[in-house]
Amino acid sequence: MKVFNTIAEIQAARWENPRLSWGLVPTMGYLHQGHLSLVEKASLDNERVIATIFVNPTQFAEGEDLSSYPRNLERDLSLLEKAGCDFVFVPQDREMYPAGFQTAVSVNVITKNLEGASRPTHFGGVATVVSKLFNITQPTRAYFGQKDAQQTIVLKQLVQDLNFNLELIVCPTVREADGLAMSSRNAYLSEAERTQAPILNQALNAAKSKILAGESDAEQIRQLIKQTIETQPLAKIDYVSVANGHSLEELTQIEKGDLLLSTAVFFGKTRLIDNLPISL
Ligand code: AMP
Repeated sequence: MKVFNTIAEIQAARWENPRLSWGLVPTMGYLHQGHLSLVEKASLDNERVIATIFVNPTQFAEGEDLSSYPRNLERDLSLLEKAGCDFVFVPQDREMYPAGFQTAVSVNVITKNLEGASRPTHFGGVATVVSKLFNITQPTRAYFGQKDAQQTIVLKQLVQDLNFNLELIVCPTVREADGLAMSSRNAYLSEAERTQAPILNQALNAAKSKILAGESDAEQIRQLIKQTIETQPLAKIDYVSVANGHSLEELTQIEKGDLLLSTAVFFGKTRLIDNLPISL
């Protein structure tokens, strides 16, 4: 496995043998099995796999956890090698955003609610850095996790709108044994918070059961999710959403088609997200 810090090195490797298929897995590091599942899938589908590790400053707002975001490069590289990765791109901030950088990619509408409502500058940063990574690595396929459901929809729109010549592949959320979605941010949780955190997944599953049993009032479903999460004293809800699975517009009536149940919950300063897609 080769580790590169510069765009020039990555591009040289990419064009050494242009016919090979490349799978790209962008990450912010502090890897867990969720990230590795993307690498494993990419290595099944492609002749070469490239992972990137970059804590992208432009997708963090003032006061968010950019400076405290967990990092362990040595461990990440060893996990990536075992998972079948061929190249790792680990740029410094100035390699991605050199002096004089002044361009931003913005995806409208789909970025306004849910995560975008709580983090208004987040998806602009994501769309910009992912566009750069697509241009730098020119992947055949790019892999993203369902864990960040809205991000996958935003990036599908980006690929379509800007004609990126690649296939975007969404991989299922990998969970701990108790249902908590794996996340680098789980490392921030105290023991008491960690014990209560699986409530996100439990609440979404309870809602899914209620929908499958015939409940069609979306507000009832939102209330059920809220009340279930609020059984845990350390949980402070940011939002609960029962939305159309494509437009992410909030529903009043549950209808046939694709839905997305999603929530963001604070445990202390740690903000956890989870979601459950449902096809009716
Ligand atoms: P991050 O390092 O948090 O930016 O995540 C990098 C990629 O890994 C994104 O596409 C995430 O959606 C994906 N990812 C993070 N956690 C999980 C998980 N538990 N299961 C599947 N994919 C995940």
